Amino acid sequence: MRAVLVGPPGAGKGTQAQILASELSIPKVSTGDIFRANVSGGTELGKQAKAYMDRGDLVPDEVTNAMVRDRLKEQDAKQGFLLDGFPRNVAQAEALNKILDDLGERLDAVLELKVDEEEVVRRLSGRRQCRNCNHVHHVEFDPPRSEGVCDNCGGELFQREDDSEHVVRHRLEVYREQTEPLVSFYANEGILVAIEATGSVDEVTERAKSALRSRA
Ligand code: ADP
Ligand code: AMP
Repeated sequence: MRAVLVGPPGAGKGTQAQILASELSIPKVSTGDIFRANVSGGTELGKQAKAYMDRGDLVPDEVTNAMVRDRLKEQDAKQGFLLDGFPRNVAQAEALNKILDDLGERLDAVLELKVDEEEVVRRLSGRRQCRNCNHVHHVEFDPPRSEGVCDNCGGELFQREDDSEHVVRHRLEVYREQTEPLVSFYANEGILVAIEATGSVDEVTERAKSALRSRA
């Protein structure tokens, strides 16, 4: 399965991608996680990305596309992958088609997670992410057993700076203007499947699995 998850920030892409990737034994490739790891590692890539991320803007396409090209060439992505957070605009979607063409691969499905903005704001304001394994919790909807500690690996949970209210508002605008056009882009390619992403995490996973099965 080679699939993309698309949806507004806070829709649950990372949460679902982690569950589905583990069930399918393929890697979850999250551009946000890769950028954050580079920012905390102080790499050149992290330095290039940080200011854009702090504002909630997209990191320039050349930087992002090159990073994804390198990642998808790795051995563990040969049998499939779930992309979370990429592509984020039509130019990136075209770049992804080119990357996959060069690798002799193609996308099987693009899964759209549909959720309204009020719910997204609730989800993002309580999101806590693990510094070590990137697992996400929510203070109310998926609280860790011990406060501040990741259930998955025991790592430290932190609140992302770009989950502050005014950056979230800007990220939602960026989503509407730049990312949402991907829905019709992929509908035209005939590979879009959309599900309601409201309800419990388990309910959404079940919907996601049956939607992806329809494209397998
Ligand atoms: P995205 O990757 O789309 O930005 P996340 O997967 O990080 O979204 O989810 C955002 C927040 O919402 C996290 O705190 C997560 O625990 C929580 N969340 C995810 N799915 C659900 C759900 N179905 N119901 C309630 N909260 C959820
Ligand atoms: P995310 O973890 O997906 O919410 O992404 C966090 C931030 O990383 C975004 O607000 C962007 O600044 C940057 N980012 C992640 N993915 C991309 C992408 N595909 N293109 C450009 N910037 C990205």
